[in-house]
Amino acid sequence: MSSTKPLIKIDEETSDFASEIVERGARIFPKEELKRLLTCIQCGTCYGSCPSGRITAYNVRVIMRKAQLGLKEEVLRDENLWSCTTCYTCQERCPREVETTDTIRLIRNMAFEAGYVKKPHLIVSRNFIETGHSIPLRDEDKEKRKRVGVPEIPPTTLTFPEALKEVQTLVEATGFKEKVLKLLEEG
Ligand code: SF4
Ligand code: SF4
Repeated sequence: MSSTKPLIKIDEETSDFASEIVERGARIFPKEELKRLLTCIQCGTCYGSCPSGRITAYNVRVIMRKAQLGLKEEVLRDENLWSCTTCYTCQERCPREVETTDTIRLIRNMAFEAGYVKKPHLIVSRNFIETGHSIPLRDEDKEKRKRVGVPEIPPTTLTFPEALKEVQTLVEATGFKEKVLKLLEEG
């Protein structure tokens, strides 16, 4: 088992951004696990394992380094962030057990709050707000479902209006709906 001693102290000025990621993520994940971000040795195993990195300019290793160095604005503005499919391969393989995927998810939440988000993501978000599904159910999908012997309409928010109401209550209570609609309006 490798040592997880931080290479950068979390209270250093340069790691304010990393500290912010850790504090924010601690609402969901164990703090000690998130702090492993500071132990990244830039070995590149994450990037070498990343299916998105093979076909896009997205580089998870570079993002971990920039997060360590406190380059918040540069990271939040990086459109490549949205190329991560959250497959968790990098997180499973990291020799330092850095929570790479969860860190990317946290950074994306911060980017979204700062208004750095791509239009297609806003559109799928609006679909989700309206129907409880990110991708609309098309007639051809219903036809395919029928062919394989499952109900044309799945037993989800599309079947249960009370479940959709719960989703819509949540997206309103969290401010997600307001933010998405505002960003769509701003174009
Ligand atoms: S695999 Fe882990 S230690 Fe290696 S570069 Fe990626 S995050 Fe850093
Ligand atoms: S979780 Fe994201 S960054 Fe990690 S390997 Fe999968 S696509 Fe790449």
